[in-house]
Amino acid sequence: MACAHLDDLPITEPTNVAGCEDCLRTGGRWVHLRMCTACGHVGCCDSSPNRHATAHWHDAGHPVVQSFEPGERWAWCYADSDVLKDVGDARYRAYDTA
Ligand SMILES: [Zn+2]
Ligand SMILES: [Zn+2]
Ligand SMILES: [Zn+2]
Repeated sequence: MACAHLDDLPITEPTNVAGCEDCLRTGGRWVHLRMCTACGHVGCCDSSPNRHATAHWHDAGHPVVQSFEPGERWAWCYADSDVLKDVGDARYRAYDTA
């Protein structure tokens, strides 16, 4: 595992903690949430019908999303197709900085 992308990225606060911001806009539903570590975009996972986290990677080119589920601390790099373990908890970070 040698993802260099995360090192380049700032600590980012979620832009929206209510859910997948694209689903909220379009009335869609999501299963799990992922947060873009580059810009804080919150999108839905690949088990969700609209897969907005993956769509965001294609649209914005931001390679790393981290789980936005409570207690989960892993991230996923689309560019490397690899899991990054224990990057911290996005939710707790969001609440700490609120
Ligand atoms: Zn990477
Ligand atoms: Zn969505
Ligand atoms: Zn992004």
